[in-house]
Amino acid sequence: MNDKGNKGGQRARRAATKVVTAGRDPKSHHGFVNPPVYHASTVLYPSAEDFAAHRARYQYGRRGTPTTEALELAVQELEGPQCAGVSLLPSGLAAISAALLAVLRAGDHLLMTDSTYQPTRNFCEQVLKRLGITTTYYDPLIGADIADLFQANTRLVYLESPGSLTFEIQDVSAIAKVTHDKGALVLMDNTWATPLYFRPLDHGVDLAIQAGTKYIGGHSDVMLGAVSANAATVAALKNFVRLGGLCEGPDDVYLGLRGLRTLDVRLERHYKSGVAVARWLETRPEVLRLLHPALPSHPQHAIWKRDFSGACGLFSMVLKPVPQRAVYAFLDTLELFGIGASWGGYESLAIPFDCAPIRTATTWAPGGPTVRLHIGLEAVEDLCADLERGFAAMAAAQ
Ligand SMILES: *Cc1c(COP(=O)(O)O)cnc(C)c1O
Repeated sequence: MNDKGNKGGQRARRAATKVVTAGRDPKSHHGFVNPPVYHASTVLYPSAEDFAAHRARYQYGRRGTPTTEALELAVQELEGPQCAGVSLLPSGLAAISAALLAVLRAGDHLLMTDSTYQPTRNFCEQVLKRLGITTTYYDPLIGADIADLFQANTRLVYLESPGSLTFEIQDVSAIAKVTHDKGALVLMDNTWATPLYFRPLDHGVDLAIQAGTKYIGGHSDVMLGAVSANAATVAALKNFVRLGGLCEGPDDVYLGLRGLRTLDVRLERHYKSGVAVARWLETRPEVLRLLHPALPSHPQHAIWKRDFSGACGLFSMVLKPVPQRAVYAFLDTLELFGIGASWGGYESLAIPFDCAPIRTATTWAPGGPTVRLHIGLEAVEDLCADLERGFAAMAAAQ
């Protein structure tokens, strides 16, 4: 199953243990396995002198509690030895905006992958632009040729690999090398792989973001974001989060911690089932092609194999040309696949999408209607049977 062989297996074993142990210290909580949920604003100081000198392990709810520290430490450990600190934010998008604002200044230039999550693009166009920060979009497959796009004021290169609708795999190390040679920083949205299947900071990324809403939460019941920083960026990140008063609510932090403990077993199942359903779909006459990095048919499969130790349950398929009503009939007939935004929960999802109107640096012309699938933890046989019923409805609607 895991094409990376021993190397990937060993890293997976280490991570499997870490998701259980990281950020956990039962001795400091009377032996209870999980940390308590501190609902906190005020922290009382022993004396006026201590208060005046800010002398306290914890100072104020917004600045961190044992609950938030537990999740930050756990994510930090999963990111590996290059990670110097993690900040929690109230959503994945908040993690993206905080990371961008932590390092960018007026007059800076940003290089953004054309495959980026659309709300990230909206933030660049509607907020960064207003602050005097310009964005140039680049072909996600550009690799080391990104050197040609640098301007004198280019401060940051932003990656998302794979793109979460279109699944291009980027050459992270090649882009990071060029970027550092030019004196700029690298930020990556690593929501798809999670730090279990790809550790961006090991590949030269300076800031990695994670929409914890997806697989860390894992149950479609929490909004959560995390930014992981290396030594070069951690001070800027922590400073911005402190100055901006950004923090995540304690119950949602707890749900993140709870989800994290089973991340390894859930992801393994999403991976296995995702590949099984994708392989089945590849045999279907209705399907033109799959956009799944773990399939040998994927154009950047070799880079995925080189860099990643697994795949999550999210991929897309291109259907042979049919009228839109037939695609909608397919989706509306599915019972096990819900129609809705987000992913990473235990349940399967299916949505139609079209990136053609969004792209500015590349042309999106896949050759037929596109559907993104999230393969949940249901039995593969039931999911394929559901999709088969959908295809029958699709044929009937043509
Ligand atoms: C969902 C998602 C986000 C944003 O996360 P939220 O918690 O929904 O704000 C960011 N990046 C990617 C790739 C996503 O899929």
